[in-house]
Amino acid sequence: MSSFFVDRVRGMQDVLPPEGELWRRIESVMFEIASCHGFSYVRTPILEFTELFDRSAGESSDIVQKEMYTFDDKSGRSVTMRPEFTAGVLRAVASSLSGSSVFPLKLMYFGPCYRYEKPQEGRLREFFQFGLESFGGTSSLADFEIIVVANRILSKLGISDIHLEINAVGCSKCKSTYLDEIKRFFLSKSDVLCENCIKRLSTNPLRIFDCKNNRCQEAFKDAPETLSFICDDCKSGLEDLKRYLSIAKIPYEINTRIVRGLDYYTRLVFEFVTKLNGSNLTVCGGGRYDNLSKSLGGKDLPATGLAIGVERLIKIMKDMNISSHTLNNRNLYIACVDESSKDVAVQLSVDLRDLNVTVDYDIMERSLKSQMRFADKMNYDYALVLGSNEINSGILELKKLSDGSTKKFSLDNFVNEFFEFLSRK
Ligand code: ATP
Ligand code: MG
Repeated sequence: MSSFFVDRVRGMQDVLPPEGELWRRIESVMFEIASCHGFSYVRTPILEFTELFDRSAGESSDIVQKEMYTFDDKSGRSVTMRPEFTAGVLRAVASSLSGSSVFPLKLMYFGPCYRYEKPQEGRLREFFQFGLESFGGTSSLADFEIIVVANRILSKLGISDIHLEINAVGCSKCKSTYLDEIKRFFLSKSDVLCENCIKRLSTNPLRIFDCKNNRCQEAFKDAPETLSFICDDCKSGLEDLKRYLSIAKIPYEINTRIVRGLDYYTRLVFEFVTKLNGSNLTVCGGGRYDNLSKSLGGKDLPATGLAIGVERLIKIMKDMNISSHTLNNRNLYIACVDESSKDVAVQLSVDLRDLNVTVDYDIMERSLKSQMRFADKMNYDYALVLGSNEINSGILELKKLSDGSTKKFSLDNFVNEFFEFLSRK
């Protein structure tokens, strides 16, 4: 591999072809599906004042404790490169609310996040999230709706080996009873807990469930479960969600150990997890955060949201051999035999591209043989050989590259006939 005079920053990735095509395709599938569920695009700055994340993610969260890219700008204000979107989107929404705001406000986003984590598989320092935030609705239907969008995106992208896990974490009425109970339980285990978890006992005992230390994990095996503490409202909300999921035929499991990495969740949390090739990777995480707006000094604004980690999604797609080609076909390659056929190739391409057909032809002055080799390598579905014979006879032979089978078309009507042929596929 040749070296360049400076290296890439650790934990960050370049995206080059052919993976770039997969990125573009994934992004458009995500936006298409979410907009068909009524979500609108939102974009907020990468840099925010540090206190936004200190106060939203929670002082005891791993993100705030050790993962943030924080620095003073030239005026000496502490700023942070967003480790996640929710806080920034909420800030933007809360500061633009007026008496005429219409709810629900359903937003979708796609962009980079920054966390100073130890780089490893599925864990980067710059990574992309696609996410949804739905403001205004307290009903479980709002939670159901974002889960439906995530589920449709995952299945549209061909990801099968993935399942939904949900948990109730309590609301402002019942969360504190559960926290007290958990604290009492872990205090009785303080002789086995790691140093970090001892600290968590006073800052946020729920966070202990996130600890990767074996002894701590052993200790919380028989910890009390949220489900036995949640109030009637939380219980019926969970029942509603379960019913909606069953109607939509979305399988789920209750996992009482999901707490999520951020402090702001209430009532519901969930994850889409894959166990593909023995992994245990969370691709999508989300939940309800009804109190976040108020706790940041804003209005009462019930909210629910989720985020999908795009690099993790791509890793799974690669493991499953799903490529951009599977998702976005290159329809036709026109191989030109001689100079005169180029004009016809240009004309056909202009007309076909108007119909959104992906079509290409040679711009490298290659021989017919190497044009065909190129078409094969680039995964075109069909190829057309165009020379004076074809132009004089008016008969074109379309070749399916995967099996070599052929089909005849008339040159005069090729654009319409080929478009129809593709639509019938
Ligand atoms: P984990 O427990 O794996 O650290 P998290 O709880 O920190 O995840 P969230 O803050 O909920 O993750 O982020 C949502 C999604 O973003 C995750 O499910 C994951 O797919 C992705 N993600 C989070 N951190 C990283 C990272 N460092 N590199 C790549 N993807 C990430
Ligand atoms: Mg994390």
